Amino acid sequence: MGALGRLSVLDVHVADVVEMRKTHPCGGKTWEVTRIGADIGLRCLTCGRRVMLPRPAFEKRVKRVLGAPPTAIR
Ligand SMILES: [Zn+2]
Repeated sequence: MGALGRLSVLDVHVADVVEMRKTHPCGGKTWEVTRIGADIGLRCLTCGRRVMLPRPAFEKRVKRVLGAPPTAIR
């Protein structure tokens, strides 16, 4: 979406849901963003596990950003 320069590859916010390239051992592929910083905090929406990833690793593993979760996801 337009030329954003090299500031950020991904536009993600806390509470956004992201889909990762690799399936979690629990079978889940979607994660909720719980923290944005030098590290990105994620919570697996399937098993609830929390992880922290350095931003470059996160950007490499994320497949797409689904945005704010629909109310159906609980
Ligand atoms: Zn999981």
